[in-house]
Amino acid sequence: MSVYNFCAGPAMLPPEVMKKAQSEFLDWQNLGVSVMEVSHRAEPFLTMAQQCEARLRRLMNISDDFAVLFMHGGGRGQFAAVPMNLHLDDAPAVYVNTGIWSDGAATEARKYTDVVELNVRDDRDGQFGVTPVAQWPLPEKASYIHYCPNETIDGVELFDVPRHPSAPIVADMSSMILSREINVDDFDVIYAGAQKNIGPSGLAIVIVRKTLLERQGLPRPGILDYAVEAKQGSMYNTPPTFAWYLADEVFKYLEEHGGVPAMQRHNKNKAAILYDYIDSSSFYNNKVDKACRSLMNVPFWLNDERHNERFLALSKQAGLLALEGHRFVGGMRASIYNAMPVAGIEALVTFMDEFAKEHG
Ligand SMILES: *Cc1c(COP(=O)(O)O)cnc(C)c1O
Repeated sequence: MSVYNFCAGPAMLPPEVMKKAQSEFLDWQNLGVSVMEVSHRAEPFLTMAQQCEARLRRLMNISDDFAVLFMHGGGRGQFAAVPMNLHLDDAPAVYVNTGIWSDGAATEARKYTDVVELNVRDDRDGQFGVTPVAQWPLPEKASYIHYCPNETIDGVELFDVPRHPSAPIVADMSSMILSREINVDDFDVIYAGAQKNIGPSGLAIVIVRKTLLERQGLPRPGILDYAVEAKQGSMYNTPPTFAWYLADEVFKYLEEHGGVPAMQRHNKNKAAILYDYIDSSSFYNNKVDKACRSLMNVPFWLNDERHNERFLALSKQAGLLALEGHRFVGGMRASIYNAMPVAGIEALVTFMDEFAKEHG
């Protein structure tokens, strides 16, 4: 039986990458030891690290105006790092609230800096919606504008990028990085925990405009300091070496499979199959406004929630794993990142349809 893992994170990784990692687990680059067991400051690892950054720059078309950092602490580490690095004494940080993760980022930032939270959720009649980005009332003065293009829990994705005449735009791309084409120049800081579309948890990728490295910010730990990490090639202390190596293997895999444009087609196709089925069904529903439905995280609800437990038990038996929705929104959620094949979506839809026929 094929198993498809719909976990929101840590999420499934491309099986090809996992097999390659397995094959070189004990002997990396004919060194007779694992990549986990070598110095990060010796040539083999340094070469890998350089290639990894170059690959990510090619995949996302990142210019020399930006530094690319491989940091510790995942997404939430960056919830703290962003205010510490970008704080200004005379302007508040603006956090756009579109759901649970962006709200969490604001809560963390408030420990360190003045935060103005802007609620742009536009929920009506039980539907989740968001005010269009162009209509967000962004204040004139801000140390930076933080937002989350893909709300992993709510299943809400924003396809437009906010603009501001002076404040840097900071985006938490943890659950959508590399899933569709973006223009990096529209942003000033992009960060992502790795465990959704890149590799093992713990690693955070940070893409930061070099001019921002001059901001004094607040006193902060060296491991969360963008300028220090940029200067040290992300090796101020021992980096998460295995996660970095696996990220490189995922980037390699993406380059060999048509890069981000191919992933975008693949992801749009997968999401369309699943949303079309849900919309056509009288057994299931999705509460997100069609204008902001996530390509990566598809929450859905059974119209009769008394069947939830049975749905979860039978789907697991059918090899469809981790479909339980986040406890904050309930229902079900299928996370369908880059690594999820179309066959996984087809298996899910087939299962959902059979379940609906038996229980409807
Ligand atoms: C998963 C996730 C995070 C948190 O990542 P951690 O590595 O667990 O800290 C933050 N933001 C978004 C949008 C996420 O999906």
